Amino acid sequence: MVRNIYEGKKFPKVEMPSCPIERKLKGQTAIVTGASSGIGKAVAIAMGHAGAQVIVNYNHGEDAVYKEVIPEIQRCGSKAIGFQADVSKEDQVLAMFAQAKKEYDTVDILINNAGLQQDAAFDEMTLAQWQKVIDVNLTGQFLCAREAVREFKRRGVRKEISCAAGKIICISSVHEVIPWAGHVNYASSKGGVMLMMKSIAQEVAPYRIRVNSVCPGAIKTPINTAAWATPEAEKELLKLIPYQRVGEPDDIARVVVWLASDDADYIHGESIFVDGGMTLYPGFATGG
Ligand code: NAD
Repeated sequence: MVRNIYEGKKFPKVEMPSCPIERKLKGQTAIVTGASSGIGKAVAIAMGHAGAQVIVNYNHGEDAVYKEVIPEIQRCGSKAIGFQADVSKEDQVLAMFAQAKKEYDTVDILINNAGLQQDAAFDEMTLAQWQKVIDVNLTGQFLCAREAVREFKRRGVRKEISCAAGKIICISSVHEVIPWAGHVNYASSKGGVMLMMKSIAQEVAPYRIRVNSVCPGAIKTPINTAAWATPEAEKELLKLIPYQRVGEPDDIARVVVWLASDDADYIHGESIFVDGGMTLYPGFATGG
């Protein structure tokens, strides 16, 4: 078992700043997939706070979309619509992009966030569990990214809006590099996202389309409640996090807004880890 070298030590408690209100994305349209909860919900709201008009995609969780996400985006003066689509279904993804163009003329930013886990020991994993996770986490990102690139190439750069013709941000995971026993389907999907993102980035760069990933560590959302909901579980989890706090959805949202903005215009084909140091191999902190 990994010893927690941080246990018992006193660390300062730091207040989190609230979401950015600087309107860095004014005039741009963003599609955020899986935005009815967790990271997607926080990202959709932060995009709206930053001035973008937002297509709030969901498969389930209509209530949160229409009662929380859209009203919060509108409250700060941005536009938003909800759109139900299963990102693993080609016809539904095409319909979502068609609706976005009908409503807001074009799309500038895609946040490929929708994802799920279906965990099982490897020799007990069913083909259905394998396929479901690959379909949503990898094929879903492919389908949405392809539609985004088609639109970005068609429209090209509008200098008054952004230096780039379009931005794609894939929400990957630390598990694009950290193997994860009991989650072979999930880790494979995120490893796939890494090379999909980098290959698309290499191909579309000359069109001034920027493609990157944000790789969260452990963030408090419904996908992993069991890992942080009790003090015992959180204590176990903190053994893996040198920064000694579990992440919040806003930790990811702030980075996504910045990465989508022209402040990050020269960042391309990168996986940006937002993980409190989880990828620093904390088990080796005592010297190995
Ligand atoms: P979550 O369960 O709160 O959110 C996932 C969202 O995706 C939900 O709104 C869900 O309805 C939606 N979704 C699932 N299948 C869909 C489909 N077929 N079509 C459209 N939407 C669909 O979990 P989260 O933690 O917010 O996860 C968001 C992303 O972040 C995922 O890609 C996940 O792999 C990634 N991630 C999360 C963590 C973490 O610690 N929470 C860590 C690394 C990566």
